Amino acid sequence: MRQRGASPLRTPAGLTIPLRTAKPLPMNPLFQFCPRCGAQSLQPDQSQCIECLECRFLFFRNPTVAVAGIVANPDGGVLLIRRAKNPAKDKLAFPGGFVDIDETVESALAREIREEVDLRVLQFRFLTSHPNRYEYRDIIYPVLDLFFVCETETLDATGQKEEVTSLEWVAPENVEPDSLAFDSMRHAWACYLSGVADKCGNRSI
Ligand SMILES: [Zn+2]
Repeated sequence: MRQRGASPLRTPAGLTIPLRTAKPLPMNPLFQFCPRCGAQSLQPDQSQCIECLECRFLFFRNPTVAVAGIVANPDGGVLLIRRAKNPAKDKLAFPGGFVDIDETVESALAREIREEVDLRVLQFRFLTSHPNRYEYRDIIYPVLDLFFVCETETLDATGQKEEVTSLEWVAPENVEPDSLAFDSMRHAWACYLSGVADKCGNRSI
């Protein structure tokens, strides 16, 4: 449902959660020819879809779904990875990644955390979501990032993927929002600090 113009949500702590960002996603200049009829007649300035004016081919640009987990140790420190690759190379991030085709969000969360930091997720609760723009090889992907607070079997995290340069447990007061990779993560971190997570129920995988 379109929420343009609706009032943003507010958390009990007074944090504003936008319902929708106002930034349109422009057509990538690499996309010029219709994949059905081959005509160079894709309608410009279509933020939500790619449409051919010749054959009426229509392709919706729905967001890709990504997940990330905030894992805390008993001292309150949270686990951050340092990204080895662009976008946001060398920036810090919560472990996570993209949901695969035919995969559930729950499975993707467990899989990505296992693959990136070798931790097994036992419990998680939904924290918040936020749109993101992920640029990779000259394509800007619209992404919906879903953030969860996770409890893991152990805290013996180790870097597993070539996408991860290093792991760091960082005390909350030492997490610099500007050091995080994406606006969506800064939003999630603000939600985490505001205690929004306490309003959400626990779920098991
Ligand atoms: Zn066409």
